Amino acid sequence: KGSNGKYTVTLIPGDGIGPEISESVKDIYAAANVPIEWEEVSVTPVLKGGKTVIPDAAINSVKKNTVALKGPLATPIGKGHVSLNLTLRRTFKLFANVRPCVSIKGFKTPYDNVNTVLIRENTEGEYSGIEHEIVDGVVQSIKLITWDASERVARYAFHYAQASGRKRVTAVHKANIMKMSDGMFLSACRQVSKDFPGIAYDEDLLDRVCLQIVQNPQPYSNRVMVMPNLYGDILSDMCAGLIGGLGLTPSGNIGRDASIFEAVHGSAPDIAGMGLANPTALLLSSLMMLRHMNLNEHAAKIEEAALSTIAEGKMITGDLGGKASTMEYTNAIINKLTKA
Ligand code: NAD
Repeated sequence: KGSNGKYTVTLIPGDGIGPEISESVKDIYAAANVPIEWEEVSVTPVLKGGKTVIPDAAINSVKKNTVALKGPLATPIGKGHVSLNLTLRRTFKLFANVRPCVSIKGFKTPYDNVNTVLIRENTEGEYSGIEHEIVDGVVQSIKLITWDASERVARYAFHYAQASGRKRVTAVHKANIMKMSDGMFLSACRQVSKDFPGIAYDEDLLDRVCLQIVQNPQPYSNRVMVMPNLYGDILSDMCAGLIGGLGLTPSGNIGRDASIFEAVHGSAPDIAGMGLANPTALLLSSLMMLRHMNLNEHAAKIEEAALSTIAEGKMITGDLGGKASTMEYTNAIINKLTKA
C-alpha cells in the first residue's frame, strides 16, 4: 500500500481485445472508488542476447507489486517464439491455477446450479516438457510428480476452501492406473487434509467426475477440486462450458513470488478493435484479485453490479446474445455503481 492509501497493481493490457476490456475494468474501478493504482506495462517481447524475452520493466513491476491483472496474449505460432504465458508462469513460479465455475444468473445454460472451484497444479505432471525419442518411431513423455509441488497445491486448495467458506476438498485423480505418480499426489493431499479438520476431504476418479458433473453438477457445489496439471487443464474447460463458455470464466495464477489474474479466453483477433468484446471474464478475474488482496467489499459491490446487468439482459454484448457494445455494457455497470 502506497503513501496515498492505494495499492499498486501491475496491469498488462495484452493483445487483440485486451486493451478494450482492460479499459472497461479501469473505468469500472474508477467509478467504484477501488483503492488501486494501475501500473501499466507491456510484455511485447524484446530481443536479448539473441532470444526473445519479456521486457525487464514488466518483470520488475510484477515482482515489486506481487499482484497483476493480465489481458490475453497472442502467442505467435512458429519456431523461436517462447510462449509468454509459459514464461510468466516459470518466472513467477505460478504453481496453482484457480478456476471458479459458478453459474451466472440470467445467462441461460443447461444448468443453473454450477458452483465449483477447480485448482490445478500448474508446474509439473504431464506438462513438465520432458520428452525423448528413444528409437525411430518410439517417443517417451515423462509425467513428473513431486511431493513438494503436490503438497504446495493441496495446501493452497485447503486454504482457498477455508477462506471462501467451501466445505469440502476433492482430489481428482487416476491413481487406479497411475499408481505411483497420482498415488503420491493423493498421499500429499491426504496429509494436508489432516491440518484442516473443519473441511471434509475425499477423492474421486477423473472419468467419474467428468461423467457425473455433466449429468448433474449439483453434488459438486460448494467444494474445491484439486488435481494434477493435465486433468485440470481439461476438466476446467469442460466446467467452463457448463456455465456458458470461456467468455465468462475468470482465473487466477497463484505463485510463490507473485499472483497473476486473467480471463481464460484469448485475444479474439476476429473482433479486436471493434468495441464488441465482453469484458466480464477479465472483470471477474479482477474481482478474484481483489478478494486475494482482501478487498472483499469492493469485489462484492462490483460483482453485484455486473451480474445484475447481465441478469437484466438489456445491455449485454453480442457473445451473450445482446446488442450492446463494450462501452454500453460498461456504462450500464457504472450507472448501477454510482446510483448505489
Ligand atoms: P479466443 O478465445 O481468442 O477466441 C475464440 C472465440 O471466442 C472468437 O470467436 C472470439 O471472438 C470469441 N471471444 C473470446 N473472448 C471473447 C470476449 N471477451 N468477448 C466476446 N467474444 C470473445 O481463442 P483463439 O481464437 O483460439 O485464440 C486467439 C489468440 O489468443 C491466439 O494467439 C492464442 O494463442 C491466444 N490465447 C491466449 C490466451 C491467454 O493469454 N491466456 C488464452 C487463449 C488463447
